[in-house]
Amino acid sequence: MDHKELLARAEALEKSLPDLSFGYLGTSLLGRGIPKFTLGHGKIEVLYVGTHHALEWLTCDLLIKFLEEAGSLREKRIGGISVAELFECVTYHVIPMLNPDGVEYVYHGVSNDNPIKDRVIAMNGGNKTFSFWQANGRGVDLNHNYNDAFAEYRAASGILSGAPTRFAGEEPESEPEVAYLCGFLRHHPTLRGVLSLHTQGRVIYYQSRGAMCPSSIRIAKQMEARSGYHPEIAEGLSSCGGLTDWCIRSLGIPAFTLECGSGKNPLPISQLKQIYTELRDLLFLFPTWL
Ligand SMILES: [Zn+2]
Repeated sequence: MDHKELLARAEALEKSLPDLSFGYLGTSLLGRGIPKFTLGHGKIEVLYVGTHHALEWLTCDLLIKFLEEAGSLREKRIGGISVAELFECVTYHVIPMLNPDGVEYVYHGVSNDNPIKDRVIAMNGGNKTFSFWQANGRGVDLNHNYNDAFAEYRAASGILSGAPTRFAGEEPESEPEVAYLCGFLRHHPTLRGVLSLHTQGRVIYYQSRGAMCPSSIRIAKQMEARSGYHPEIAEGLSSCGGLTDWCIRSLGIPAFTLECGSGKNPLPISQLKQIYTELRDLLFLFPTWL
């Protein structure tokens, strides 16, 4: 779904689900509201973030499906726990599309009124099709823009200007999308766990260059038992400057990167149902393992 559809679905969700409220984390570089949902009203607070990478838009569809299903499952039990009870004990903060400008490029290309249109098309090698664009509206890879091994990453990657992927930005938190999210995390010391959703690989990254929280391995194993996804260790440049790295290293919060589904990015929307089936229980039960 694109940003417009996300807003329409958000409005419908808020009307239909009394346990859910909807607002904005902040505004993207090009002025799009970044929708943020709150489901449940309990003391165990968790954060789920989708679509750092524009071409991984499927993670937004996945998180919206999770929220949409929450209402119909209210009277049911998952893993022996009543869903209604979960909503009493847990608050799920859900940001399905952290990067709405990048997603807009992927779906619709760069619009004529975009103030940096020519620069962005040049970053994309002159190509007006953006199906493989990962970055935000000005070519910064949001999942390398966190304040973690920033200078080391930039030096090692050698990517020092806007690009479809892997440019970390001029400085940590230079991008509004990341700055708003870091601000939210800093002001929510009660948050107990973070899931960062990406595609693909059916794996769970649970540490950051050897660092992790005391509970990280246990939780990763519980996630594996529910989903069949395997805990793995991120190697090299992919374990620098991401949300998971920053949460573990700077905030001491158990954080996990969930690589959803398998295949070649962008995964087709036809995989959504299967991926949701694999991950549904994990998404509901994750807070109970913290
Ligand atoms: Zn990704």
